[in-house]
Amino acid sequence: MVFKTNTSRGFFDDVNYYFDRASRYTDVPGDLLAQVRMCNAVYRIRFPVVRDDGKIAVVEAYRAEHSHHRLPTKGGVRYALDVSQDEVMALAALMTYKCAVVDVPFGGAKGGVRVDPRHESTSFLRRLTRRYTSELIRKRFIGPDVDVPAPDVGTGAREMGWIYDTYKSQGPDTLNALACVTGKSVSMHGVAGREEATGVGAVIALQHFLSEPEDVKPLGLTPGLSGKRVLVQGLGKVGLHAAREVIKQGGSVVGVSVSNGALYDPDGLEVDAVVEHRRESGSLVGFPRARLLPNPDELLEQPCDILIPAALEHQITADNAPRLRAKVIVEGANGPVDPKADAMLREAGSVIVPDIYANAGGVVVSYFEWIKNLSHVSFERMTRRYQQIANDRLLGVLTRLTGKTLPPEDEALLLYAPNEIDFVRTALENTLAISYERIRTRWKEQSLPDLRTSAYVGAIERVGSAYVQDGIFP
Ligand code: NAD
Repeated sequence: MVFKTNTSRGFFDDVNYYFDRASRYTDVPGDLLAQVRMCNAVYRIRFPVVRDDGKIAVVEAYRAEHSHHRLPTKGGVRYALDVSQDEVMALAALMTYKCAVVDVPFGGAKGGVRVDPRHESTSFLRRLTRRYTSELIRKRFIGPDVDVPAPDVGTGAREMGWIYDTYKSQGPDTLNALACVTGKSVSMHGVAGREEATGVGAVIALQHFLSEPEDVKPLGLTPGLSGKRVLVQGLGKVGLHAAREVIKQGGSVVGVSVSNGALYDPDGLEVDAVVEHRRESGSLVGFPRARLLPNPDELLEQPCDILIPAALEHQITADNAPRLRAKVIVEGANGPVDPKADAMLREAGSVIVPDIYANAGGVVVSYFEWIKNLSHVSFERMTRRYQQIANDRLLGVLTRLTGKTLPPEDEALLLYAPNEIDFVRTALENTLAISYERIRTRWKEQSLPDLRTSAYVGAIERVGSAYVQDGIFP
């Protein structure tokens, strides 16, 4: 059944609250604002999937396409028991604004399947994913030029591979089938750097905020990440890579949480050792030195400078906001801070780096994967050897003119030719730098209340003008 959405309460209302607050600072007319704000289409399906024991499970699933101002629409697929229509609509809306913030030419979408992947077999999940994809194909809710899914909570490269394989065998477009989904493994024509892109991007976003002395001084912080104490909520695809990147960039991860517990160590945790311990023992219990917090929610209230919530929405509410110690909150997850908590934290002087910018690294690199798949060639293939030859020539000329031989490490530096990960990583950094500059400039110049409002203002104006320029809005 395909139907237009009307009203709902909850997460989508929260997103629209932020939208309405920001829209007051734009010149976008009211009727156009109404078009931008609404969710264009939601496909809700229920389908049977055979269990391993022969019994049948009837599964409920969704795909929401929030905005068709740019095609394809783009957004992850979530596998969780509490997936709902409201949730996919909210997440799809966030995708629309996120893509606009980082100038990625997609509309926003999101999918969800009501299933707990931790308690299902691989064969059941494979059948379910194939059936879900078939349903999307039937209603044209997937395709390289229509709607392109990606991983979200509870899904990863494995599920994206199944989606691709199903689309390839059943979809209308065989030549460009690879571009029907992103977040595929590199061996299945994914792009290097996609897996870590969201977490790394969140830390790049944090570093941009921390780089402005004028912005960090009022918080009692010094510029830069070095030595800062960071808490990371959730050690999944986003949280784990964010935590690793914090350490790589000189910060200290003093606390981490998973769904059934948390660890805190003021001297800093070795995140990979935590992951290894959990993999071997099945829990965080017994990890040396660190304090174990049986309730993961307690992590958020521990002493720190920075908090990166990277688990789920609505983790920070009016209930726990007053007890948070973080001066900077970087929204690795979508919607982790609800509007009441958002207002309380601002009042208390904290700064939030908002989801529609902070976790956009994933969709930026998904965009690169989509381009790679459509062009049928990897980023370095046409340039790498040429670059090596050019570097070699340059080194030869330098050596001839100076009569000197460079130390081996300098020679290696000069001869280095970029490969795919170098292109992806620098393009991601560049995109996030340009976007941050835009958000910060508007925040300061228009004296907007916060970074979130500024990011939304920019997104609303971009999406609104795309509707008008492309003649979609009469
Ligand atoms: P994931 O399934 O890989 O990881 C989520 C993790 O959160 C899991 O490890 C789970 O154990 C943990 N968790 C759940 N409840 C928790 C709690 N109460 N306390 C602590 N940990 C808890 O999902 P993900 O892809 O890392 O996504 C996390 C968030 O980031 C979601 O909001 C998602 O929408 C958002 N996001 C993801 C991407 C992406 O590329 N994967 C991109 C942008 C935004």
